Amino acid sequence: MRYISTRGRAPALDFAEVTLAGLASDGGLYVPESWPRFTEPEIAALRGLPYTELAARVMQPFVGDSLTPQRLRELTAQAYGRFAHAAVTPLTQLDERHWLLELFHGPTLAFKDVALQLLGLLFEEFLARDQSRLTIVGATSGDTGSAAIDAVAGRERVEIFMLHPAGRVSDVQRRQMTTVLAPNVHNIAVENASFDDCQAMVKRIFADESVTARHRIGAVNSINWARLMAQVVYYFAAALQLGAPERRVAFSVPTGNFGDVFAGYVAAQMGLPVERLVVATNVNDILHRALSEGDYSAGTVIPTAAPSMDIQVSSNFERLLFDLGGRDGAAMAAQMAGFEANKAMRLTAPQLDGARALFASARIDAAGMAGAMRWAWEDCGAEVLDPHTAIGLQAARSREWAEDVPVVTLATAHPAKFRDAVERATGFRPGLPARVGDLFGRAEQCTALPGDYAAVRDFVLQAATPL
Ligand SMILES: *Cc1c(COP(=O)(O)O)cnc(C)c1O
Repeated sequence: MRYISTRGRAPALDFAEVTLAGLASDGGLYVPESWPRFTEPEIAALRGLPYTELAARVMQPFVGDSLTPQRLRELTAQAYGRFAHAAVTPLTQLDERHWLLELFHGPTLAFKDVALQLLGLLFEEFLARDQSRLTIVGATSGDTGSAAIDAVAGRERVEIFMLHPAGRVSDVQRRQMTTVLAPNVHNIAVENASFDDCQAMVKRIFADESVTARHRIGAVNSINWARLMAQVVYYFAAALQLGAPERRVAFSVPTGNFGDVFAGYVAAQMGLPVERLVVATNVNDILHRALSEGDYSAGTVIPTAAPSMDIQVSSNFERLLFDLGGRDGAAMAAQMAGFEANKAMRLTAPQLDGARALFASARIDAAGMAGAMRWAWEDCGAEVLDPHTAIGLQAARSREWAEDVPVVTLATAHPAKFRDAVERATGFRPGLPARVGDLFGRAEQCTALPGDYAAVRDFVLQAATPL
């Protein structure tokens, strides 16, 4: 399998190269040259497989020759062996229509672990082949940081610099990052910044020759293709359990950077019968406006109780627009240049019509979020939802559905990660699972820097081990 850039000018790469590359050198994002497709009997044959085996089968076409099927199976077994639930991503029923897909049984309590536990192993595998090193620079709205740090802490060939917006992540999220004291981990709290500001700095570092001349820069954000690939698997897992391929299944996805829901789009391109993908946003609703009106224009970020969705620029949306716009790299580069200059753009008619054929969207405010938390708590056997999941569920419940369509909301974080918000809505304060240990008893290590690109770049240049 070869991967091409959405902006048409970066060289095509194989899977091992694309895993280590992150952002393409032309500023675009890598996508597979074509979508692999399973037939209906091939999908039916995946039913009942253990998660690790299903993962290897769904990912093999994307991995191509970069790993043997045997090696891929070993890596998925190792990655998902660290999950606290034998089903890895179990389904929970809420009522006759609604289901939760629990993606938070990994070491850091959010769905990011599903992809990053594997990505950490892939980095190690591919770097060992050419005896090379990787300097990871990433931005986090809270959950990517802890999951990425857990996945690479103490690894020999990888060093990680993780930027988060100071004061805008929950205490649990911050401590999950800053209490990891491994020498290859560098936490940076960027002052007076939003996640979008942090992400913009990371993108600049990828394009900055004073950095790239001395370091091989890698990505753990969902601009990294391997992350999205690993997330395709649980769409298959859930749909197979609910009757696919004979029955269509819908998904509602709490969305920020458009990575998780794009993985659902990929599953649909591969032949999974996806009835609809609901893009659930909070009041930071650029994606809802884009999908309902074709208006992709960034406002200022409003902090909410669902910080991983406090995003106005959704990097992975470019992958969708590229695919729906006829895969024209030059046109995509021009469209994105317009967006970067004006912080706004219109979707073309093919992009908007194509998106509407599969996606729907909803904007859920704080009251809607709390209402969904209370419904699950009071009417569904004391089910506890984190704020992100509650937004997804509320979006799912606010739509009319055809009879016989099961609707799966992706439960993206463990409620204990956002205890204050859960307690405010339900009166119940969830406890932290034993696997996170004594998070509040450990020392923290973090560098505060001003929201200034040069300060962040110089810190990376000074602290990172050169090639
Ligand atoms: C990252 C995250 C999201 C958003 O996922 P995207 O792939 O960025 O759309 C939603 N909920 C939680 C809990 C997250 O950590």
